[in-house]
Amino acid sequence: MRVLNFPALGLKWGLCLWVLMGATSAGAQTEFQNCLAGLRGPAKAAGVQEASFGRFTQGLSPDMGILDKMNNQPEFRMPIWDYMAALVDEERVAEGLAQLTKHRELLDKVAVQYGVDPATVVAVWGVESNFGQTFGKYPLTQALGTLSCFGHRQNYFRGEFFATLRILQAGHIAPERLVGSWAGAFGHTQFMPTTFERLAQDFDGDGRRDLMDSVPDALASTAHFLSKAGWNAAQVWGFEVKLPTGLDVAGEGRKNKRPLSDWAARGLTRVDGSALPALGGSAGLMTPSGAKGPAFLVFRNFEAIYSYNAAESYGLAIAHLSDRLRGAGPFATPWPTDDAGLSRAERREIQTLLSGRGHDIGEIDGMLGDKSRIAIKAEQTRLGHEVNGRAGQKLLRALR
Ligand code: CA
Repeated sequence: MRVLNFPALGLKWGLCLWVLMGATSAGAQTEFQNCLAGLRGPAKAAGVQEASFGRFTQGLSPDMGILDKMNNQPEFRMPIWDYMAALVDEERVAEGLAQLTKHRELLDKVAVQYGVDPATVVAVWGVESNFGQTFGKYPLTQALGTLSCFGHRQNYFRGEFFATLRILQAGHIAPERLVGSWAGAFGHTQFMPTTFERLAQDFDGDGRRDLMDSVPDALASTAHFLSKAGWNAAQVWGFEVKLPTGLDVAGEGRKNKRPLSDWAARGLTRVDGSALPALGGSAGLMTPSGAKGPAFLVFRNFEAIYSYNAAESYGLAIAHLSDRLRGAGPFATPWPTDDAGLSRAERREIQTLLSGRGHDIGEIDGMLGDKSRIAIKAEQTRLGHEVNGRAGQKLLRALR
């Protein structure tokens, strides 16, 4: 239990229990106010005027539930086929295509200025904030203020907290609009505040860099991020390949890049069996579920996507969604499982079925959270399935 990682604050078990309950004790409130008072000096040194600090932290109280979020490792590690099934489902492809059409003129301008194509920009938008529909609900000053004063990453979060105060001080975004994830990513692009400061763009020309309420600013900021991360408009991110029987994939990975001629010599082909294209640049072999699942050769552009959020599954979701938005189909090779993942529509359906069986699953939102997992386990027990809290096609069929 990493809640005990507060030695500097001398917190006792009693407070830890409060923390675990997500409540704010009088002790935590006092600690927080003392901590904030101590941050005034460092904030000023970091460019936050005293008046701004006072104004934007007035009445601020800590949200101790956020520490819970930071400290609790998810018990459940999601298989990549579940992750991909929800992030790149038919709904998101259809909505992405609609957004491509709606913002065509803007996206063309962004492509000219930053050298990143519309499908890639829209794919990032779709995965980061579901095209501006999911920003997170945590007021940023409260979330980052809390993490600056409690928990085991205070120094890191203080940098983000001060950046937040500078963003507000500069008037880019109104304080009441600035909400995001519990860890401080916000807006259409889900940038952290320091990333905002480095890379956010004012593309609509109103003098503010507004990633909450300006789609032009947001899409240009995403393209600017990828461009700074080394995006090369002349290259693809990569593509699915077919491996020769018996190829040893141990030691291969996206970082271990070789010229395509090397891969061709080792027997790799395009997934339809045709020869690898004669492209310049080098590519690494990524097999996120081992040699039996889908395999990909990924170029430097994949690294640019990866730098947006350092997870290969995340990078693959964006890359694949961008291909789908260019008209490509799903991966040709199935994931190595007999219990494929659920789209968001299927997740909503399973939540409705669970609710109909009397389980309290909260809002039917297509996100399988703690309440859904408890209900899933109960049904798995009843049905004699493996009890793991994961919902796939098998459970959906059984409940139907
Ligand atoms: Ca603007």
